Amino acid sequence: MSAAMEPSIGSGRKGLEELEAKALEIIKAHGDEGIYQHELWKTLGLDSREGSRLALRLLKKGLIRREPTVHKGRHTYKLYIAEQTRQPVSVDIKIGSVIEVPCFTCKNLERCHIGGFFDPTNCPILVNWLASKIARLKRSMSS
Ligand code: SF4
Repeated sequence: MSAAMEPSIGSGRKGLEELEAKALEIIKAHGDEGIYQHELWKTLGLDSREGSRLALRLLKKGLIRREPTVHKGRHTYKLYIAEQTRQPVSVDIKIGSVIEVPCFTCKNLERCHIGGFFDPTNCPILVNWLASKIARLKRSMSS
């Protein structure tokens, strides 16, 4: 990635968060090869002072790691996404509110589609279930 981004980042905390998010996105896109920090600054439209501050913030948060290296005879750093940032995110989804939808246990689910013989837009099982949910909701709202 070499094209400079438009400096469209806002100011204040939100601006910093956006800047960090963009930086992480760019670093992540460079994968195992990493990115020279000056390339990141250039891409983000930052000077070296602003860029160094940004890198330090990301380092402190444990979102990136950096390794010293030499580029064209000059000492610099390469930036990488931290291992923990690469870990897949585990999301705990509660399905209690949707598990009773009749489609989950319907033997015709595989054959059900709009325009088909089994069609969710006119399925009596689904319509009756929805009607009972609506009636229950109305009763609870009126009491
Ligand atoms: S819409 Fe009706 S037929 Fe289709 S999967 Fe749901 S319950 Fe089954």
